[in-house]
Amino acid sequence: MTAMLEVKELEVAYGKIVAVKRISFSVEQGQVVTLIGTNGAGKTTTLRTISGLLRPTHGEVWFQGERIDQMAAHEIVKRGLAHSPEGRRIFPKLTVEENLLLGAFARNDHGAIKTDLDAAYDLFPILGERRKQPAGTFSGGEQQMLAMGRAMMSRPKLMMLDEPSMGLSPIMMKRIMSTVSELQAQGTTILLVEQNAQAALKRADHGYVLEVGSIVLNGPGRELLVNDQVRKAYLGED
Ligand code: ATP
Repeated sequence: MTAMLEVKELEVAYGKIVAVKRISFSVEQGQVVTLIGTNGAGKTTTLRTISGLLRPTHGEVWFQGERIDQMAAHEIVKRGLAHSPEGRRIFPKLTVEENLLLGAFARNDHGAIKTDLDAAYDLFPILGERRKQPAGTFSGGEQQMLAMGRAMMSRPKLMMLDEPSMGLSPIMMKRIMSTVSELQAQGTTILLVEQNAQAALKRADHGYVLEVGSIVLNGPGRELLVNDQVRKAYLGED
């Protein structure tokens, strides 16, 4: 069986700086896969390349048997691959509901869009309570929920989440992480980028450790969680 997402020998450079150095990894349907690594390891660059916002200088990206590394970003979304970006990137002047609806831009099944809006409000009640308010008034954690809700509005088969726990309180972080598990239970495949290695590895079927642009280690999440190298470098243990 071929994987849902396959990244082969991916290299991405900003001018002369090679941020991602010929990495290969895959995500099987139904899995939660995590990429962990410290600042500047190349995690965001990898996700932005998969979603068509950056072009690789070498290598290929395949999604559901189709090569996507030269496709426009909106074409990739249409195929069922959504991205909840780092730093949220919501539209502050638009209302919560308008932000959510932007996630559904490639769809025209209006009845189902309404159902999905209600599902987003069920999952994150604060979004429903404040649906008519400008999103710019939201706290960081609320903006994170909105970014996730927006990605869900495209009904993705695979959802990429870039550091969903960044800047969140422990309670909010738990909420976001349990949402990851809920999405998986509903059949969504997840590629999760996290600096919080512990939270990510606990939930991941498989994890890849990225260091200065290269994958240095990979394995089932629970194995990496007890791996000495990971514990020392990412879990702050001696
Ligand atoms: P973080 O967790 O801090 O976001 P990351 O693992 O997501 O880190 P990237 O943001 O992908 O890492 O950055 C990888 C490398 O590419 C870093 O050395 C970074 O400085 C560099 N880089 C990222 N964006 C650009 C850019 N637009 N121009 C030049 N270099 C960049």
